[in-house]
Amino acid sequence: MQKIIDIYKSRAGEPMYSFEFFPPKDEAGEESLRAALQSLAQMKPDFASVTYGAGGSAQGRTSRWVTDIQREHAITGMAHFTCIGSSRAAVVNVLEDFKSNNIQNIMALRGDLPRDNPDYRPPVDGFRFANELIEFIHSEYPGFCIGAACYPEIHQEAPDAATDIENLKRKVDAGVDFLVTQLFFDNDRFLRFRDLCERQGIRVPIIPGIMPITAWSQIDRFTKMAACNIPQELQAALSVVQNEPQELRATSLAYSIRQCRDLLREGVPGLHFYTLNKSPVTIQILTTLQEGAL
Ligand SMILES: Cc1cc2nc3c(=O)[nH]c(=O)nc-3n(C[C@H](O)[C@H](O)[C@H](O)COP(=O)(O)OP(=O)(O)OC[C@H]3O[C@@H](n4cnc5c(N)ncnc54)[C@H](O)[C@@H]3O)c2cc1C
Repeated sequence: MQKIIDIYKSRAGEPMYSFEFFPPKDEAGEESLRAALQSLAQMKPDFASVTYGAGGSAQGRTSRWVTDIQREHAITGMAHFTCIGSSRAAVVNVLEDFKSNNIQNIMALRGDLPRDNPDYRPPVDGFRFANELIEFIHSEYPGFCIGAACYPEIHQEAPDAATDIENLKRKVDAGVDFLVTQLFFDNDRFLRFRDLCERQGIRVPIIPGIMPITAWSQIDRFTKMAACNIPQELQAALSVVQNEPQELRATSLAYSIRQCRDLLREGVPGLHFYTLNKSPVTIQILTTLQEGAL
């Protein structure tokens, strides 16, 4: 299995395609993830990542699914890891586990602050922000390739874009190899963010995170949870078909394909698809992009 940064370098400008999954909570979820992996593996992604449950609730499952992706599907894997609430010893435990399972790529995150504890303080020897975790991994486990998260529409805790980008620069300087964005629908906002990063001296590859809307009810969730803007054009087109699920999917899919195509024209290093453990939409987008149709 390879380091993602080495895959990126070997592509010499050709975009990378990658998929993100989450560890299912029950047997039915595992079944459907297995089926999705089986189909998506045919698309030969450059890498696939598995998220980490808040507060480490899915730690073992993340490692197990990344190992499965690498062994069963011969796809380079990346394990997400959130350090929130963890002592240094607990962090070391997880890193050792990843290492022993031949996981070479980590998406290193702080994680969300606990909603039920407004006075949260990290353990005394823990990490306050992702940059501290990244510095630790970079110095103590130099064998890992490190990805980190970034937010074209600003992280919800940040007071403004300038502060968020300064914090991002601190994170990158701590040893980040590449960045993956929060999902977004508005390419102009992403491009403005990319310009700001450039001006701030952030030079690592920034991979856009893509997640097509597949149900009208998702719009509210996405705008609240991921704080992302739904462009007027998309919102208007979807509202016309909000009660027709198939039409809505088709409209959203056409938008995502145009969004991806425009991003590729802008020279992004790759596209990272938030699959929600389902395969059809991602396959349709990738197939269309690769055929050069539409
Ligand atoms: C690509 C991607 C993958 C994700 N995967 C997961 C996952 O698997 N599991 C999960 O639970 N969550 C995941 N998340 C969500 C993520 O955990 C949350 O967005 C979380 O609130 C922030 O994590 P972070 O690593 O970006 O934090 P940080 O980079 O630490 O930033 C958090 C906030 O603190 C500020 N900040 C950063 N450093 C400093 C500093 N040194 N001093 C002062 N302020 C600072 C930032 O501006 C920001 O507002 C993911 C998000 C993305 C975009």
